[in-house]
Amino acid sequence: MSNSRLIVIAIDGPAGAGKSTVAKALAKRLDFFLLDTGAIYRALALQASRLGVAHSDGPALGKLADSLPIRFDAESRVWIGSEDVSTAIRTPEMSQGASTVSAHPEVRAALLGLQRQLATAGSCVVEGRDIGTVVLPDAPLKFFLTARPEIRAQRRFDELRARGQAVGVDLATTLKEMQERDQRDEKRQVAPLKPAADARLLDTSDLSFDQVVSAMEQAARSRLAL
Ligand code: C5P
Repeated sequence: MSNSRLIVIAIDGPAGAGKSTVAKALAKRLDFFLLDTGAIYRALALQASRLGVAHSDGPALGKLADSLPIRFDAESRVWIGSEDVSTAIRTPEMSQGASTVSAHPEVRAALLGLQRQLATAGSCVVEGRDIGTVVLPDAPLKFFLTARPEIRAQRRFDELRARGQAVGVDLATTLKEMQERDQRDEKRQVAPLKPAADARLLDTSDLSFDQVVSAMEQAARSRLAL
């Protein structure tokens, strides 16, 4: 990674809008590192389940979040202590779990500092729900990705299938669970899902992956003089 000038690009949006894949590709094209903040909430949900902490217990989850031994390696794999949990956090159960634990104000407060600190390691693309609004509101470039719900559900379902995690899951259930998650994310009191006033809105429904990444790369290069 080069530079004295650290740049942050924020990418927010609902589940299945294509954030993860495009954030990864954009980071690679710009030689930035990728910070997937959803993985932090997923890791917290997993750790809570394993330790018997209820996903409804905000204060206990806040304490757990304070000392969550999470780290990302150079390949963006996610570790809790000495265990690689990259696959374990991607199940439908942990999608729901992350959505539930992330609604607690204690959890959001506890993880705010961690996210900001991780984002100082170099120029980065940071992906989440509240990056442009709350975590890094001074980011010089912000995107808010959306897509129609059926398309987002299909993408999520295809992802699960590709990872062999779609056993017993169907498209209709994926859509229903995704809409529940969206609702929780949009309605929560603290840091709800919404575009920052200065975010660029991008509907990815009818665009190819390459069209989306190229549009974002072009915006980054001209806006940030890269
Ligand atoms: O992006 P991903 O699907 O991995 O996120 C899992 C859940 O974590 C989301 O549904 C959302 O509830 C929560 N989240 C959040 N704020 C972020 C990132 C994720 O609340 N910055």
